[in-house]
Amino acid sequence: MTNDDINTQFRSLPSVEQLLQELVLGGLAGAYSHAAVVSLARQQLNDTRDSIREGKDSPSLQQLAADIMARAEEEWSPWPRPLVNATGVVIHTNLGRAPLSKPAMAAVNAAAGSYSDLEFDVREGSRGSRQAHISRLIAEVTGAETGLVVNNNASAIMLGLSAVAGPGGPREVIVSRGEGVEIGGGFRIPDVLRQSGATLVEVGTTNRTYTRDYASAINENTAAILKVHPSNFRVIGFTHEAELDELVTLGRERGVPVLNDLGSGCLLDTTRYGLAPEPTVQQSVNAGVELSFFSGDKLIGGPQAGIIAGNTEWVDRLGRHPLARAVRIDKMGLAALSATLTSFLKEKAHEEIPVWHMISMSMDTITETAEGWLKEIDSPAVSLREGQSTVGGGSLPGETLTTTLLAVIPPDSADAFARRLRSGPTPVIARIEDEVVVLDPRTVSDGQSDIVVEAVKLALKA
Ligand SMILES: *Cc1c(COP(=O)(O)O)cnc(C)c1O
Repeated sequence: MTNDDINTQFRSLPSVEQLLQELVLGGLAGAYSHAAVVSLARQQLNDTRDSIREGKDSPSLQQLAADIMARAEEEWSPWPRPLVNATGVVIHTNLGRAPLSKPAMAAVNAAAGSYSDLEFDVREGSRGSRQAHISRLIAEVTGAETGLVVNNNASAIMLGLSAVAGPGGPREVIVSRGEGVEIGGGFRIPDVLRQSGATLVEVGTTNRTYTRDYASAINENTAAILKVHPSNFRVIGFTHEAELDELVTLGRERGVPVLNDLGSGCLLDTTRYGLAPEPTVQQSVNAGVELSFFSGDKLIGGPQAGIIAGNTEWVDRLGRHPLARAVRIDKMGLAALSATLTSFLKEKAHEEIPVWHMISMSMDTITETAEGWLKEIDSPAVSLREGQSTVGGGSLPGETLTTTLLAVIPPDSADAFARRLRSGPTPVIARIEDEVVVLDPRTVSDGQSDIVVEAVKLALKA
């Protein structure tokens, strides 16, 4: 297209005013502010000019108005949008990690729309503490003296290191060379250490670090020993890591606290489900670690939160640090977390907490669901096959749970089919294995089976 052609096409585009008149008809301009609708119309016109420059024809007034309506629908509808996780990855980082339990949702709902005793002592009629209730729950489920909750585990570690090894005291923090890890999203332990004002002292080697390596690094500038759970990778072969209780004994002898970043924060025995043993919070606490750090939305199965379990002396020190206010948790997170921890106290985690319900789901239950899908879809393109689910979320790397998958041999390409599955009002997210689209019932909740069946049927028709 010549420049003249492009200019002619540009001139044929409607003005914002003309578009607005069209949109009034569509109800959009009545439902949202004038400024918001004008801005959206301008963005759409800009994008349209770009596509004309790329050789596309100019759309009609009606088409443009329809595009703007669609854009408003996409951008201004409630978000995040619920979807179906058929990937078989239980704690899926891109899909919002852990779905909340029913009791946790109810607690959020109750706390969200009403005043509450978040920081109020109802009996005394005076100011209360945001942390008091949750601290006791953390102590009860982990066996620690007390607890503290902040926004997420990354900020818990940042707060912990700042309070223990920040300016004004000894600064050196001893970390094994095998544990200076990157968690994901660019969160690297050595960077966090520096950011908190601590000095990193690396000991041992990538594959083998002994308690004596830590011992020989301790001096009068040592602020802490930090253990980090390598949650998203595994080192196998000729390896050694120092035992927690040895480190605690060493720390006690030399007056140095031991900090343990557990990552996913497991409270249950994973070997009961045929998985490798994931270190538990209770083990860390029992070993005598001064401060244990873990996430609320990995294996705890609750809301995003950073949980600290530990000795009163050290936990209080973190609570008093100025950063504590900067990383504090909100009332909805606290409500969801207290309900989630209560499920562990009731020993009902498997029934109530979705993440544990999925991990502990029997093959029979999974196969039954898959067979139901197969029957209802009723197409030669689908079949059942054995496969593997994973825990995900930086927990139990390399560990899998046997499952039954619904496998679809798509009429076209696997990518195109997976895209169609995502294009419905409730997107269905599947996995692709060797050009076969597979859907895992383990991570699909009971009420979502109909959505899966409809989506697959529709995608097969296209
Ligand atoms: C996931 C993880 C973190 C970060 O936790 P968030 O709650 O995502 O901030 C820190 N350390 C380890 C070892 C982790 O696995």
